Amino acid sequence: MELCEYTAHELSKKLRKKEVSAKEVLDSVFRRIEKVEGKVHAYISLMRETAYEQANEADLRLSKGESTELTGIPIALKDICCTKGFPTTCGSRILERFIPPYDATVIEKLRAAGAIFVGKANMDEFAMGSSTETSYFGITANPWNLERIPGGSSGGSAAAVAAHECIGAIGSDTGGSIRQPAALCGVVGLKPTYGRVSRFGLIAFASSLDQIGPITKDVEDCAIFMNHLAGYDPRESTSVPEPVPDYRDFLNREIKGWTVGVPKEYFIEGIDPEVEEIVRRAISTLEGVGARIEEISLPHTPFCVATYYIIAPAEASSNLARYDGVKYGYRSPDGRDLLEMYRKTRAQGFGDEVKRRIIIGTYVLSAGYYEAYYKKASQVRALIRRDFDLAFEKCDVILTPTTPTAAFKLGEKREDPIQMYLSDIFTISANLAGIPGIAVPGGFTKEGLPVGIQFLGNHFQEGKLLQIAHAFEREARIEKRRPDL
Ligand code: GLN
Repeated sequence: MELCEYTAHELSKKLRKKEVSAKEVLDSVFRRIEKVEGKVHAYISLMRETAYEQANEADLRLSKGESTELTGIPIALKDICCTKGFPTTCGSRILERFIPPYDATVIEKLRAAGAIFVGKANMDEFAMGSSTETSYFGITANPWNLERIPGGSSGGSAAAVAAHECIGAIGSDTGGSIRQPAALCGVVGLKPTYGRVSRFGLIAFASSLDQIGPITKDVEDCAIFMNHLAGYDPRESTSVPEPVPDYRDFLNREIKGWTVGVPKEYFIEGIDPEVEEIVRRAISTLEGVGARIEEISLPHTPFCVATYYIIAPAEASSNLARYDGVKYGYRSPDGRDLLEMYRKTRAQGFGDEVKRRIIIGTYVLSAGYYEAYYKKASQVRALIRRDFDLAFEKCDVILTPTTPTAAFKLGEKREDPIQMYLSDIFTISANLAGIPGIAVPGGFTKEGLPVGIQFLGNHFQEGKLLQIAHAFEREARIEKRRPDL
């Protein structure tokens, strides 16, 4: 087994025992990248030079015994997180040459922990998409089948973890963008509670929905990452000063006597029978370790997708107004006056999906339509949130599929935005309600594609999600496979 194939917790032990050096781990990751990146295309840019500097520092820290569990661990960063002095494109032409003057809070925290940044991972443009096909920098393939999508929008992050082109990764999730690609690439992805992880330095898509979270090889690594990502940030007004537990304390605990809610609205027509079978199997596994399964109802579920596709574009149209070719980013060279420069910059700088969202968002916020669309969607959002509040009065966690199907083919939904939007049908509700959700591998289809199980928890109950996800991972004993690249 190559070093790049280990988990962060396994490598951390080896690093601390001086069995390997951070440099050797990084060498292994870059060897892997040389071998498979041509096929997968998980990265927009690599940070090789600074990564080796970080590896030297990590080895020094390790030799002095001043390490954390992330010291010397090579990770991928979704290219939506600002990295000081290093290009941050958000998958868009409009930010092709943007070099942030500061680090996002999560980047600062990971640096301080001694993690090593391998590169900036590919993503749908401005995180709008479910397949990583809208990036200005090309598409990413699913490591389990190169003709399939890796999911999105954090498809580069999930593919890099699955292909062992890094040990763990950072993603962002506005409507499923951590959990959906994690599920489709057979890895673990956690979207924390809104306010749990600072969004300072995360390029904004829909500010009331966006959250940063980890994508990892297993649940234990996910807990380790959360220990370093979570916490209050005075620079971010929606970050919450709630104490951060040690998430590792939730591992290896029993879930006997827990009530696991299974919402009937999540087993709809259109869900692939193989996916449903894997989810049903997960339910029996949990019953086998003493969980009580209860069918529940989240009655406003059918409105989630429509509600999201009003609120997210509305916020996006406002957030993306800043890209006008003046302060930073791409500027069209051929505008004759200011107005024409604005128009051409935005026409040339944004791709089709981003333009579609800006048009929808501007429409639903415009005078005369605001009440009918944006206001109505905000009211429905409150009802969706209340469904969860009521459910968590009687359940510890909720179990659902992560996606209705396994990874679809590249190009299959590219021309059909509605079909693309429907691939987030099970993940969007958590963002609307602000609650945390985790995707964990549940098994493989006959064709060998991974399928994910999703657990949803009440606000700030990431610990409970990790506890049940870890119990499931232990008990389900999903066969260990590696993508054949
Ligand atoms: N696929 C959804 C969208 O296109 C969610 C994206 C996300 O979570 N960033 O908006």
